[in-house]
Amino acid sequence: MVNDFVSNNKKNLQMTKDEKKEPKQKPHQRRKSLRDPFFPIFRRSSIRNNEEVYLDNNATTMVLDPVAEVASNLMQISFGNPSSSHIAGVRAKHLIESSRALAAEVIGCEPNNIIFTSGATEGIQTAIVSTLLTVKHNFPEKCNEDHYLLYGATEHKAVPNTLQHWNHALQINATILAIPVDLNGLLDLEFIARYSAKSLMICTMAVNNETGVFQDLSKLEQVIRQSSTYEVPWMVDCVQALAKTDLCLSQTSINYAPFSGHKLYAPKGVGLLYVREDSPCTPFIAGGGQESGIRSGTENTPGIAAFGKVFSLLLEKQLFKTEETLKLYRQQLADTLTEVFPGIVWNHSFKHSVPTTLNFSVKGVSSKEVMDLFDAAAIRVSAGSACSSSTARSFVLDAMGVPSWQSESAIRLSFGPATSQDQIDYYCTAIRSIKPALAHCCLVLSDSREMANSYAQSGLIELRLDDHCCWVYIDSNSKQMLIIDPLAGLVERLSRWVECQHLSVMAVIETHQSEGLHSCATLLRNVLSYSIPKQYQRTDECGWPLQTEQDSKIEIGGSCFTQLTVGDSQFVRFDTPGVAQSCFSLLMRQRQVTKIAIVGRLLQPGCQNKCAFPNEQEVNLKQYKQSLTLLRQLVSDDCLLGCSYDPDQLFFTTLALAMTERPMLTPLLCDEQKTQKNVDHLLSPTKDSRQPKELKGLVQLTDLEEKFSLPSEVILEFLRQNEQAVVLDLREAYESDMADIKSLFNLSRAAINVPLTKLTEFIMNSEYGFDTPMLLVCRTGKRSILGCQVMERVGYKSVYSIVGGIALYNSQP
Ligand code: PLP
Repeated sequence: MVNDFVSNNKKNLQMTKDEKKEPKQKPHQRRKSLRDPFFPIFRRSSIRNNEEVYLDNNATTMVLDPVAEVASNLMQISFGNPSSSHIAGVRAKHLIESSRALAAEVIGCEPNNIIFTSGATEGIQTAIVSTLLTVKHNFPEKCNEDHYLLYGATEHKAVPNTLQHWNHALQINATILAIPVDLNGLLDLEFIARYSAKSLMICTMAVNNETGVFQDLSKLEQVIRQSSTYEVPWMVDCVQALAKTDLCLSQTSINYAPFSGHKLYAPKGVGLLYVREDSPCTPFIAGGGQESGIRSGTENTPGIAAFGKVFSLLLEKQLFKTEETLKLYRQQLADTLTEVFPGIVWNHSFKHSVPTTLNFSVKGVSSKEVMDLFDAAAIRVSAGSACSSSTARSFVLDAMGVPSWQSESAIRLSFGPATSQDQIDYYCTAIRSIKPALAHCCLVLSDSREMANSYAQSGLIELRLDDHCCWVYIDSNSKQMLIIDPLAGLVERLSRWVECQHLSVMAVIETHQSEGLHSCATLLRNVLSYSIPKQYQRTDECGWPLQTEQDSKIEIGGSCFTQLTVGDSQFVRFDTPGVAQSCFSLLMRQRQVTKIAIVGRLLQPGCQNKCAFPNEQEVNLKQYKQSLTLLRQLVSDDCLLGCSYDPDQLFFTTLALAMTERPMLTPLLCDEQKTQKNVDHLLSPTKDSRQPKELKGLVQLTDLEEKFSLPSEVILEFLRQNEQAVVLDLREAYESDMADIKSLFNLSRAAINVPLTKLTEFIMNSEYGFDTPMLLVCRTGKRSILGCQVMERVGYKSVYSIVGGIALYNSQP
């Protein structure tokens, strides 16, 4: 596909759906045709010019200039193999040993305690495998579930996953236990004391990567050594401690301590493992005998020497700041963040944390929203830890027992110990620059408590939380609002909208009442009671207003229904029981035309390979059939149907789609005769072999990327050849304002801003034919791929996304 674009084949620029499904070339062939992939990344890298604010140093750091110089020298000048006996080899060997000596001086040990590795994860493997193999050979009687492998509950995943893997692979069969932590993230010493005697290994960390919380290693040592008669191997992950706390490893009884170069201004691919004398040590990588036979393979001399240069800079104490200075930096950042997010909550105690990490949450603002906003303002931070950025919450904060919302909204901001005052000032200015956008779009309440018109929420909005959907309608003229199936995690956000936009809430309703866990309509009604007009305050148990006015009744197809008017729209209620006892659906009508039906749990988009019903115990098939029949009388087969449960992120369905995607529903929708006979069939997952792959979350989209994405270098060509193409900007309005797509793509007309929450409404009102080429754009390409999937499913034939989104876009031909 890519080749075809590159060769300017006009026909292929307007490829149809079928053609896209069968690419003429295999993916690997296509990849070959890409131009130099490094060029755009280099061109756009602007951290050095201070155009980008990099506050994610716990994930990785930029290599410092003098460090990069050393690495470059080792790659191009002193590039000899340290095992060679000629002068080039001798020089390379000397640089490795110099680095080892410098490292030893910094971490307080002898050079021969240090093994250079590829990074901390390898160091962790070496320590754990060495320990477990020794247990297996020397104490086979301990290889059972009565013995323990202990690790801190907030440990980096490299530790528990390695324990689990090798415990199983080496058939140690020990019980792996997480040591609990308290609200400050400090390890439970009593727990350690209780289990130490029967532990085969204890793994803790010096400083946590998400919160910066440090452990009191001398207290830990006391407990570990006093509660065990033998010296249980103790590993301390020191990755985030280097240059942030003083280490003198030889004065402790720590057996193993892994470190990582890329966390402290050295390149990726180098690390070291401290091993105390007499601790078990087995080669994890065997071969040519390098690193005294403990770690074979030609040494990564550029990496090791660069790491050595970092140690030498640390010893010089000029570039690296003192703890006092770093604490002042932290305070300056904390004050700035508090100014920007008045409701900020810190997720860790500064007293127990190294000064370079700040972890915070803002109530009602998800970490994704903050991340998107920061990223649009070229400020790079992270949600939780970089390694687990696909998960919505932080396991570290969960282990500490902070409230659930804090864990879901956590943002980590981390700077390096060589940061300068000028940089911190610049970072603070950049953070302050997002304040107006935050206030305008009401992500936080500003002093004026007024949402800017351009950011005001209006129309039909689909808010998603996990697999659930809440539908909101806001009429911007009358400032009236309707909330359908609210979710607990959205209460803050919805309340802010109401307050900022001075909305009148006509109703907060639930289309079904079985989901105690997620339902929060009553709570929300109470919170928003001040904004509910008096005559709408009396409701039935579903939150439907008990009005008496004439206009609340409507006749459709000879039947009479109740309706609620919200601004320019009418919401017509019709009962649709079956999945649960009291369920109803709503037709949303404007000028006597049905635009969409909100059907709650009556239908679920997609789900070819799942049971037809979300909760099979409650299903009453006869009622269900009647409900579907009524729905079919009221809406056309291609009318959009909004649902309250959408685990596959399909956004909506239609009766036509439901019949093709869920063949088990077809008899209920079409054949009057069959009812009870189908019960068994309907209640068990279909064995249809044509089931498509299940999609969960945003991460498993690789196949879709192949299908929809255009490489950035053909985008301008695509737009030039398809003048009628529509560019949809799927970012939130505040993101769009911060990074304008029109100038980026040299567009003659503006892109249409359609955040994912408004995609269903866009499709519902779209005047564009299914043949109109659509280019969907977002920050990283994930939202646009999802958008392509949604639009293609409903019939759009030419929908495209950009590989890597704006992040990788390269407008240079
Ligand atoms: N331990 C901690 C605390 C970390 O932060 C990391 C990296 O995020 C690791 C271990 C793994 O380090 P590496 O990337 O060098 O394998």
